[in-house]
Amino acid sequence: MADALKGKAVADAMKEDLNKRVEALKSKGITPKLGIVRVGARADDLFYEGGAKKTCDSIGMAYEVFEYPTDITQEDFEKAILDVGANKEINGILMFAPLPKTLDEKKIRSLIPVEKDVDCMSLGSAGKVFADEETGFPPCTPTACMDILKHYQIPLKGKKVVVVGRSLVVGKPVAMLLLREHATVTICHSRTENLPGVCAEADILVAAIGRAKMINSTFVKPGQIVIDVGINADPDNEGKYCGDVDFASVEPIVEKITPVPGGVGSVTTAVLCKHTVMACELQNQS
Ligand code: NAP
Repeated sequence: MADALKGKAVADAMKEDLNKRVEALKSKGITPKLGIVRVGARADDLFYEGGAKKTCDSIGMAYEVFEYPTDITQEDFEKAILDVGANKEINGILMFAPLPKTLDEKKIRSLIPVEKDVDCMSLGSAGKVFADEETGFPPCTPTACMDILKHYQIPLKGKKVVVVGRSLVVGKPVAMLLLREHATVTICHSRTENLPGVCAEADILVAAIGRAKMINSTFVKPGQIVIDVGINADPDNEGKYCGDVDFASVEPIVEKITPVPGGVGSVTTAVLCKHTVMACELQNQS
């Protein structure tokens, strides 16, 4: 039976540290503040927003929601984003995406100042992540994967890591962060040949695919560590969600595995707050 790499312990330790850092900032009269930018009111955005607000409250951080109608014009939304970006009280910006198709999302993303871009929306931030510039914040989910590996003291140096998925929000940045820790990284995708065989060679397997329970017993081997980033509707349990890994078939084989729910997803809002506190500290350096 594999050890469960639970996210709660990681998030709790992070929040304990953040509490102290927020206190230190408050003693200087500064309260870190997250600006949440939302167009419309999609259910999954509201769900994530609720979690983010709760985490902010738990560490004494402030937040403000900037909500706009779905028929906002490009011109008005650009102005709104520039205003939030210039707002001295706001240290970090979370903008929900995708934006409505009527808006030029690429242009809007580029207007978020890099020093406040705590979820890596702009290409400027992504460039910094790829160049190992620590002043650019990686997206929260890849950072959550790294924080889980670090918390559970899983060695990365020289290890073979296979990442399945090459999106700009998870696969590519997590591969860069793993490389930064001296892992030997293979990135796989929908055209990879013999995917099960490639995955089974890994010491650490990161699944960021978006396909419910795709990684089964044929993709893994004993001794592996499995990080399941997936959040999918569970085809076998209506109203529940599951990962990209078929937990029931993989868990008896591997050494350690993140559960879904209760794994990577439960660390992401703590990372969002960590990035905002870091941004606040950097913006107030004397
Ligand atoms: P995405 O943009 O759809 O990318 C999926 C990646 O998986 C693509 O690179 C795709 O390859 C690859 N892929 C799809 N089918 C495949 C197959 N049959 N074999 C091999 N590779 C395949 O998804 P994403 O935004 O990266 O998200 C990935 C998963 O993570 C989703 O389940 C999402 O819900 C979840 N997620 C979780 C969190 C969290 O906080 N836990 C946050 C964000 C996302 P191609 O490039 O070749 O198409």
